[in-house]
Amino acid sequence: MKPGPKRCYIPGMTDDTHKPAQNTVKKLHMQTWGCQMNVYDSQRMSDVLAPLGYGLTDDAAEADLVILNTCHIREKAAEKLYSELGRLKEHQQNKAKNGGRMMLAVAGCVAQAEGEEIIRRAPNVDLVFGPQTYHQLPEMVGRAMRESGVVNTDFPAESKFDFLPEEQAVTGRSAFVSVQEGCDKFCTFCVVPYTRGAEVSRPVQPVLDEVTRLLDKGVIEINLLGQNVNAYHGTSATGEVWSLARLIEAIAKDSRVKRIRYTTSHPRDMQDDLIMAHRDIPALMPYLHLPVQSGSNPILAAMNRKHTREDYLRLIEKLRTAKPDLALSGDFIVGFPGEREEDFQQTLDLIMQAGYASAFSFAYSARPGTPASGLGQQIAPEVKEERLRRLQELVWRQQRHFNQSKVGSTLSVLLEKEGRKPGQLIGKSPWLQSVVVEAPVSLIGQLVEARIDAAYDNSLMGTLCSAIQAA
Ligand code: SF4
Repeated sequence: MKPGPKRCYIPGMTDDTHKPAQNTVKKLHMQTWGCQMNVYDSQRMSDVLAPLGYGLTDDAAEADLVILNTCHIREKAAEKLYSELGRLKEHQQNKAKNGGRMMLAVAGCVAQAEGEEIIRRAPNVDLVFGPQTYHQLPEMVGRAMRESGVVNTDFPAESKFDFLPEEQAVTGRSAFVSVQEGCDKFCTFCVVPYTRGAEVSRPVQPVLDEVTRLLDKGVIEINLLGQNVNAYHGTSATGEVWSLARLIEAIAKDSRVKRIRYTTSHPRDMQDDLIMAHRDIPALMPYLHLPVQSGSNPILAAMNRKHTREDYLRLIEKLRTAKPDLALSGDFIVGFPGEREEDFQQTLDLIMQAGYASAFSFAYSARPGTPASGLGQQIAPEVKEERLRRLQELVWRQQRHFNQSKVGSTLSVLLEKEGRKPGQLIGKSPWLQSVVVEAPVSLIGQLVEARIDAAYDNSLMGTLCSAIQAA
């Protein structure tokens, strides 16, 4: 039996915290740092808070509640947080002078990692909570109204997804759906297994129901999210375990779905059925973000990546055999502890062999508490920077070449927003390239065909051919 609509019920929540005061519209300002998973989480937090009367505002100064949804992946994540908290303190004080109150909450992976320390260093923070507890926001906000410095970095036994409201705010024709969270891989440089917890897949039916609700609201592009999304193994209503490929196949059956994407994948979890899904399912976009991090086997072993460069290259070959126009993007860390020049050369060599349409690359920086942070043989900053520059030059050349290869072809483009110049719209190609075309604003949200006239480092310029999907 299909379960009925779920109320956002939190054990221990009083009715007072759930109901907005009569006629009160409270303002919520959110800042989201980091990955698409954080973007999804922020959207869901605002869904959870909507029944309490909170509506979004871009202006922090007028907010009744500010949530900073943080990311721990980048360097100096905590410093960035404390500097933003300092800036917001002024707004809090101004609001207090006028008899109001601005509550300040820190969410996400920095909140999970730092916990009480945030309250100690920034006593103007009212609430700190991790990525697994935001379904409890109504109760937590209620508590933070009465008590100072509420911290909730638990990993609750219940899944937050069972408590999130069905109603979802949708902007545009593209939407995220979180299908998997957490990670059990424990790469030695990464904080995710500690901040997001163990790998968990959502059951199949709630995911399909969420997709259907999004399609009902006009969404045509579904982005499936997970820290290890291709490790998805959700249980169906009949008790079967579904792979990501099977889930994608089921989603693609609805003709309203024009595009499906998924991110982020791990090479070890790239199974044959998912490779074949790229060949067989037209709605599955020919673009794959498949991080490898290094091209050197000793470094991959030190990173605990559980695959070799040969495994990765074999995988790419299989993928390209199944889907010849598949474009790759990747993540690279240069200057991992112990990385010699010959290890780095192996990474450049792998990039040459694999060929990327785009890539994210970073100089290694230690994350407190991760095994790699305690390793000897840390690489000098100037060596890391020099290697990063060389790697990025190579990837830029590949990206330019990839963009150039589209000139003269006709591509489908999902138009998303107005461009910088009047009369221009910007959309996305199947390979996630930004495409600029001259088109009326009424076509925002439409899937159109555009002939590509020119290619630049970060975008393509095209001419509109026809709208291929009506609103
Ligand atoms: S697989 Fe990804 S999320 Fe998991 S530990 Fe490694 S880098 Fe982090």
